[in-house]
Amino acid sequence: MSISKSHGKGKDNPLLQYVLRYSLREHPVLKDLRLRTMEHSYNVMMIACEQAQFMANLAKLINAKKALEIGVYTGYNTLNMALALPADGVVVACDVNEDYTNIGKPYWKEAGVEQKIDLRIQPALKTIDDLLAAGEAETFDFVFIDADKVNYDNYYEKSLKLVRKGGIIAIDNVLWGGNVLNPAPDDADTVAIDKLNKKLHTDARISLSMLTVGDGLTLAIKL
Ligand code: SAM
Ligand code: CA
Repeated sequence: MSISKSHGKGKDNPLLQYVLRYSLREHPVLKDLRLRTMEHSYNVMMIACEQAQFMANLAKLINAKKALEIGVYTGYNTLNMALALPADGVVVACDVNEDYTNIGKPYWKEAGVEQKIDLRIQPALKTIDDLLAAGEAETFDFVFIDADKVNYDNYYEKSLKLVRKGGIIAIDNVLWGGNVLNPAPDDADTVAIDKLNKKLHTDARISLSMLTVGDGLTLAIKL
């Protein structure tokens, strides 16, 4: 079995296997959680491990202390970010499905970072509104958007309020398996992703990169 599915690119892509073989430095508990997640029916939802490592490095580069995970699933990236943050750091983790997050929780504890993870089980838009109402605008360093695609633009706009200048909003699945090349009008997920991609291209509030890692990762850095 390939060590990263990377949306089907892993097993049959020797170059990606090379990248993983010579660059992956996965914490042993993260590895255990990845292997546990691979046993789950919706494992395709987990992010690519090389992408997680890249985002952890980005968080460290900007001295991130406060992160927001929009869409936790089994918490692979939640754990990854918690491991990357300093001892007084926090990851506010948003999901609606406790069955998924319960898979990850014991691993967060085993890695000794559960106290850095503030899990909120309710729609992510509600959690973001709660954070804004609590006066936490412009206090987040890193946001990862990876929940329901139809809300991507809402997550982006609210995240722009939450992050400080120089903070990073990372947006997952921006290539959506290649579907963005030819979005079917009745495919709401693809239409939403494509629309946001095109909006960000000319958004003067951010500096922008779109990377082909995983299923496509956009970095929007708040100016
Ligand atoms: N970031 C995760 C990782 O590290 O592998 C993967 C997230 S998975 C692609 C998307 C998650 O978003 C699912 O666990 C789903 O339950 C959650 N989700 C869907 N709609 C949501 C909503 N409105 N608010 C919060 N979470 C939601
Ligand atoms: Ca994703």
